[in-house]
Order: sequence, then C-alpha cells, then structure tokens
Amino acid sequence: MSRIIYTDNNATTAVAPEVFQAMVPYLTDAYFNPSSMYEPARRVADALAAARIAVARAFGGVEPKQFLFTSGATESNNAAIVGTVRANPNRRHIITTQVEHPAVLEVCRDLERQGYDVTWLGVDPQGNLDVAEFIRALRPDTLLVTVMHANNETGVIFPVEELARITKETDPAIYFHTDATQSVGKMPIDLTGEYRYIDLLSFSGHKLHAPKGVGVLYMQRGTRCRPYLIGGHQEEGRRAGTENVSHIIGLAKAVELAMEHLDEETVRVRAMRDRLESELSVRIPWMQVNGAAAPRLPNTSNLSCHFIEGEGMLFQLSDRGICASSGSACTSGSLEPSHVLMALHVPFTAVHGSVRFSLSRYNTEADIDHIVEVFPEIVANLRRLSPYWDDAGNEPRPGPWLEEAAQPS
Ligand code: PMP
Repeated sequence: MSRIIYTDNNATTAVAPEVFQAMVPYLTDAYFNPSSMYEPARRVADALAAARIAVARAFGGVEPKQFLFTSGATESNNAAIVGTVRANPNRRHIITTQVEHPAVLEVCRDLERQGYDVTWLGVDPQGNLDVAEFIRALRPDTLLVTVMHANNETGVIFPVEELARITKETDPAIYFHTDATQSVGKMPIDLTGEYRYIDLLSFSGHKLHAPKGVGVLYMQRGTRCRPYLIGGHQEEGRRAGTENVSHIIGLAKAVELAMEHLDEETVRVRAMRDRLESELSVRIPWMQVNGAAAPRLPNTSNLSCHFIEGEGMLFQLSDRGICASSGSACTSGSLEPSHVLMALHVPFTAVHGSVRFSLSRYNTEADIDHIVEVFPEIVANLRRLSPYWDDAGNEPRPGPWLEEAAQPS
C-alpha cells in the first residue's frame, strides 16, 4: 500500500504497536474464559482486573469496579441512557444537546417517541452551549442530563465538569452522563477532582489507538442504572457477556499510553493543527474554521470552504493519499448537511463545504506540509466549477448568497 496521510483520527485510530503486543497473548495462549475456575483462567481474570485498575488510574484513581467494559461508546451511551431511564420510572425529563453523536441523539429521539420529554439545547455560532439556558432547562422531573464532552465534528469542548456540578447542586437526584469518546486521551479527566459530579461517562477504545469493538462505561457508585445487556453474571451482573479479554487488555494499554503522551497531544499535536489552520487560512479565501473561538480539542480542525462541496474535496484529497472526513463518519455518505454545523448556523454557502482533519501523535510536520501544499489547489479547482465563484477575480460572484455567506474572518 502506498503511503497515506491519515488525518481522520476522530473516526478511528491506528492500533498502537505496544497495544497490539499487549493483546497478542490473549489471542493466542491465554485464551481462557476469565469466569472459569482453573488456574490459567484465573490468570486471565487477574489480567482483566489489572486492566480495570489501569483504566481507573487514568481517571484520578476512582474505584476500578466503577468501570464496566463494553463493546464501545455506542453500547456505553445506550446502557447509560436507557439504563437510568428504566431504573428511575418516576421522572421523565431528559436534557441533551442538538450536537450529540447519533449514539446519544438517536437514543434520546427514541425515548421522545416513547413519550419522554427531551430538551434539546442549541449552541451558538462558535459551538458553545449557553450555561444560563442549561440551568433554566433543569426541572423537578429531570431524570438525566446527557451532554457530550468534546464534539467529534468540531472538537468543541463543553464544560461538563461545571454542568455536572450545577446539576448536582440543583438536584442530586438528577443523573449526569457525558459521552467522552473524543476527549479521553486528549485531555486530563479527573473523576475524583473537578469531574467528580459526573455519574456516567462513556468512551471507545478505537479513538485512542486501541482496536474497535471495545469501550468503557464509568458508573459512579450508587447510580441506579438497570443493566442493558442481560444474561451471565460478568461485570458483577451489570453487563452480561463473556469479556472481550484481548481488546480490554489493549484498551487499558492504550489508555496508559495516552496518559504518557498527553503533554505531546496538547503541545505538539495542537501546534501542528494550529499551523495547518493558519497556513490554509492564508492560502484559501473564504475559508472558515468552525468552532475556532471556542475551547477545542487540540487535534481537530473543521474547515468550511464556501461555495463548494465537501465530498468533492474528500475525493480529491483521497486521490492525493490524504484521508480526511466531512463531519462524522457515521453521517458521511448522506447528502444531508451535518446536524452539528447546522446547529452552529454555518451559512448554506459553507455548510456543504466542510472538511474535518483530525490528527494524532502519529502525524508529522511533513503531513501538514503536504496538506498545505495540495489542499488550496483542490479548493481552487472545485471553485472553478462552482456557479457561485468568479474564477478571474478569485472571489465569489455578486449575488444574494453573499449576504448569507458574510465574509469570514
Ligand atoms: N460518541 C462519539 C462522540 C463518537 O465520536 C463516536 C464514534 N464516532 C461514538 C460515540 C460511537 O463510538 P463507537 O462507534 O465506537 O461505538
């Protein structure tokens, strides 16, 4: 395979070699079921316990048994939301946001169809939530708040530690869940410190260099949450199914590595991302960085190039060996504009022309150089075909769309 430049790390990441090495024994010699009684199986159960301890350590040393291993963030989100709803039938109001991943959004929509009352908080044009609006949304019958930590499309970070504290100070009986799939490994989350008011937290291994199909659900002690998967007594009866041992071992290793690389993530990766944005901004007129003025993940860059179409950019990037994405991998392939960018009120001239570059510690400055070299040319080529663009003047044609587009900074 010829070399590719992989900048779609919010969709999935490469498995770290150290993670793969840690997994191999559990895919070969140590294949035993951790619930079995004989000695080799007990050693597998010990490895599982050690993995849980390693994960707990990364979150400030909360009790390891507060972490359940799942098949991924989709299951963790479903289990958290549906589980608390089933266990607390006396309340029927849920608060969430318009920019959640479908693994939360669709669960809440489904509950709405079943008669639950859902408040869908909007965001401002930078992608920020309004904390005052959040406070107003809390009600005596609120059962659950589910607000993501960092947005997968824009990287915008919501202050979930503050929202959780406000929630608990308002009414300790309201559960607070956060989908932290994009933030774990990219920023510190201390569940014994600032983040201690959070009851439930979800993430997936494959966003931080573990394999796909394994995830975590953190559940604060005392949380009333019915098991989502019912069957055997694994995970102390809170999540049935034989544990995916090799993947859990891999996830724990990946979490450990992510903690070791956290400074690099915040400094080196952020510097690469910032250089990408500033160099492209100089070279591409009418390009906006979505969420630029909000607190953002260090690795994510969501760019909208006005007057052209995202899919065209992605194909041309792909032809040059660059893997990027428009919005979330789950919604790409549809003609609908991204629900996240719609919630940010990105103008119609730009909402179809978005590309997300999401970096990891495996990216290099040479990757950024290559994107900076080829991407402006791709945009220029597509604009040549755009009915809104005047190629001779290298500016948009005059028309009513200009008012809508408003000159981006
Ligand atoms: N939540 C967020 C914020 C995500 O980015 C993703 C993955 N795109 C998920 C949930 C779902 O994760 P998985 O597909 O691993 O279940």
